[in-house]
Amino acid sequence: MLLCRFHFSQMYLSNRRTNVFCGFAQTRNWKYKNCQRLGFGLEKKSRRIKTARAIKCFRPFAKFLMRIIDLQKAKTQIARSSTIRDINRQIVLNYVREREPISRAEIARETALQRSTVSSIIGSLVEDGFIAETGAGASSGGRKPTMLRLRTDEIVAVGVDITPTTTTIATANLAGKILNKEILQTSSDRTETFDEIVSRLLKITEKLKNQTVEIGVSVPGLVDEVSGVVSYVPYFYWKNWELKRELEKAVGLPVVVDNDANSIAIAELWFGRPEVRGIKHFISVLIAEGIGTGIIIDGQIYRGQKGAAGEFGHMFVGEDSGGVDCSCGNTHCWEAFASNTATLGRFAKLTEKNEIDIDEIFALARKGDEAAVQVIDETTRYLAVGIVNLIVGLSPEAVIISGKITSIWSVIEQKLLERIAENIKQKLPETKVRASTLGESPTLMGAISLSLIKKFASAR
Ligand SMILES: [Zn+2]
Repeated sequence: MLLCRFHFSQMYLSNRRTNVFCGFAQTRNWKYKNCQRLGFGLEKKSRRIKTARAIKCFRPFAKFLMRIIDLQKAKTQIARSSTIRDINRQIVLNYVREREPISRAEIARETALQRSTVSSIIGSLVEDGFIAETGAGASSGGRKPTMLRLRTDEIVAVGVDITPTTTTIATANLAGKILNKEILQTSSDRTETFDEIVSRLLKITEKLKNQTVEIGVSVPGLVDEVSGVVSYVPYFYWKNWELKRELEKAVGLPVVVDNDANSIAIAELWFGRPEVRGIKHFISVLIAEGIGTGIIIDGQIYRGQKGAAGEFGHMFVGEDSGGVDCSCGNTHCWEAFASNTATLGRFAKLTEKNEIDIDEIFALARKGDEAAVQVIDETTRYLAVGIVNLIVGLSPEAVIISGKITSIWSVIEQKLLERIAENIKQKLPETKVRASTLGESPTLMGAISLSLIKKFASAR
């Protein structure tokens, strides 16, 4: 019998002889048994499945096979039948999201789930307000199928986007469309900021019809997303803030807290360019008051210890930024050379104009103002330095830039790409460098994505 790595794993786990044949080795007579028990989302006992479909079904689970089983965590790692149901539900919801309008029969065919299982899952998704029936589709011979779509008329996501200047509280539908939003000034007094957020959230939650809403919170600092503790926000020197626990207690709904750059990376996965959504390895770079990066490896965020990875904003790119300090206090960080704060600092030094904001400088650069163009050109040069370091170190398929700087993408793109190309001497695989399509508020889309993540993602 030919065995692949999936089946070695299956034999080991089940501790009994199986009749599972590898989809890679035997594409024409692909049979399987016992898959349901192991949570592979495959239920029919004997059926032909194309190799591509088999790979698709296994994909969410393949990543676990390379990991050492930690017996200290056995209680939390064992897959229960409810976990399998949840995963199948997420798979079905993703099919509707990506392929709508789609029928139950098409989902069953594509996923190899039993028709009755699909119908049961769809029933619960309709009941929970995620999916709606939209009438009959074209018949392929028999009865016309009932087509399904995502429901987009109801609030199912609530996002809180805390930035160094403003805090936005917004509601959104299942497609990520913002339905309502309110913008407050962020107070450096964290209790004041927290109380303002809670009072706005309570007004929203008392009107919520959907009972499965989670609140996503994007924070401009270090966050341990497992515990939901904000370890450090440099702009305000907030430390060890148990934001998840405090917000859940105050509002009475589950809360997901993450770093702003990580939130954006998740938003790129769910709502970004179609070509980005298909990419497995990419880095999202947020250029704002500081610089943050979200690293996506194999479709998941790389977090490092206690969520502290991705601090490329503090990598060493030069001896002296020329008067601009990084938020960490150093003058040699990427942030001190290429963030909006750095651009503002350089412009002020050159023109002695301090009362100007970043939007105005970008507007001047678009009009060809000499000083603005010179300053933006320097920012572009340092942006390229940092991106080159990311590319040579991690070889991502894409680097996606977000933040207000995308409003002058047409001004900087050519120079940026040229400088990146001329500084990479190794023959590395191509990395696409693109502007984000998340719009003016990428961190808000990040917060909304955090709110939706458990509905769509099989593993975080
Ligand atoms: Zn720094």
